[in-house]
Amino acid sequence: MTKRKILVVEDNEDNRRILLYRLRKIGDFDVISTANGLEALEAVQKDPPDLIFMDLKMPIMDGWEATRRIRELEQGREIPIIALTAQAMAGDEQRALAIGCSDYLSKPVVDPALVREKVEKFLGPQSPPSNA
Ligand SMILES: [Mg+2]
Repeated sequence: MTKRKILVVEDNEDNRRILLYRLRKIGDFDVISTANGLEALEAVQKDPPDLIFMDLKMPIMDGWEATRRIRELEQGREIPIIALTAQAMAGDEQRALAIGCSDYLSKPVVDPALVREKVEKFLGPQSPPSNA
């Protein structure tokens, strides 16, 4: 079976590292990451992932713009996008859903069970890789 591909779009290195670590424990995914929305858009055009985690506040192109543009792509219309929202930014969750995100996860991403729940909601049940 081919590995499911997850794209993590997050400009903050610590947040990115935590999320990648959590994902490695959940399943045997092919995880790629980018630090801004423009790179994410290019990655989706080149090889669409099965799931995207999208930070909203990023340089060059933010997650709002990137999500809108991914949704305009033929290959990006159906990809589940989970917005990474900052707890301090009230209202971002609803705004993210309104512009086409499928779900949201608030940062910092500390609860492994919550990350698993979000991943399995879109990719189905996962078993951790044997070396996790
Ligand atoms: Mg950010």
